[in-house]
Amino acid sequence: MNDYPKPPFPKQHQPVPGSQRKMDPYPDCGEQSYKGSGRLTGKIALITGGDSGIGRAVAIAFAREGADVAVAYLDEQEDAQETARWVEQAGRQCLLLPGDLAHKVHCRALVEKTVERFGRIDILVNNAAFQMTHENLEDIPDEEWVMTFDVNITAIFRICQAALKHMQPGSSIINTSSVNSDMPNPTLLAYATTKGAIANFTAGLAQMLGPKNIRVNSVAPGPIWTPLIVSTMPEETVQNFGANTPLGRPGQPVEVAPIYVLLASDEGSYITGQRFGVTGGKPIL
Ligand code: NAD
Ligand code: MG
Repeated sequence: MNDYPKPPFPKQHQPVPGSQRKMDPYPDCGEQSYKGSGRLTGKIALITGGDSGIGRAVAIAFAREGADVAVAYLDEQEDAQETARWVEQAGRQCLLLPGDLAHKVHCRALVEKTVERFGRIDILVNNAAFQMTHENLEDIPDEEWVMTFDVNITAIFRICQAALKHMQPGSSIINTSSVNSDMPNPTLLAYATTKGAIANFTAGLAQMLGPKNIRVNSVAPGPIWTPLIVSTMPEETVQNFGANTPLGRPGQPVEVAPIYVLLASDEGSYITGQRFGVTGGKPIL
């Protein structure tokens, strides 16, 4: 059994979007542990936010299962190169796509560059997100509210729309939602609202794309130890991160990756329109 780290954690804070290299303890994205078994052989995946955290764990797992991956990220060059190194070590190709998902042109360009390189998209993982904590409603800048929606939900719509014509029957779309989608943390008001929207968008799009045999699901992680946390949450929250779950600790990104593999694989062929919690026991109802 793996003995994953428990709080309290060392005090730490980083500027957005955070660097995985600077985290203590270093998040476990399955670099040393994930074992593939050919479940995604020959598939092509586009993963947003694939430089670090959950997205990196998904990229490593997908590559070890036999997929080539395109990894989109904001500007974390070092983290992205580290992900690429692991993908290539698994014998697969990795295309790195930096840029801001708040821009429509970039959302479309991501898809076009992936298709230019690999010819199609079999698995689309919409996983990038922005969040910021605020105690009071009047503290939330209007521009930040709009940007949160642009990055977290509008970009998903735009990427899905651009990708659809490059996706064959049997393809899979997986959107990262959150426990905040139905248990909103009030200090993450804009973020939690977008996560509810992602769960709803997923259920609607799954019905729309069912006749094309393209499946759409969302994953709702609980507290996971990633750069997003140390760059956007107060230090005291970070120190005790995950303590309030039944398992008494945050999840590591590697512990979230297996559900993405199942949903991406042909074994998940009758699973669509659903939301899957990976929460350390926090209920999702
Ligand atoms: P992370 O910081 O490793 O990943 C988020 C990524 O989003 C970043 O690496 C960054 O490159 C990308 N991103 C942010 N803003 C962007 C922008 N404007 N343009 C392009 N890319 C941008 O953190 P993570 O926790 O692994 O986050 C992955 C997903 O998991 C997110 O959707 C997040 O909401 C979700 N999630 C995380 C937790 C948690 O506790 N960590 C809990 C629930 C849901
Ligand atoms: Mg990152």
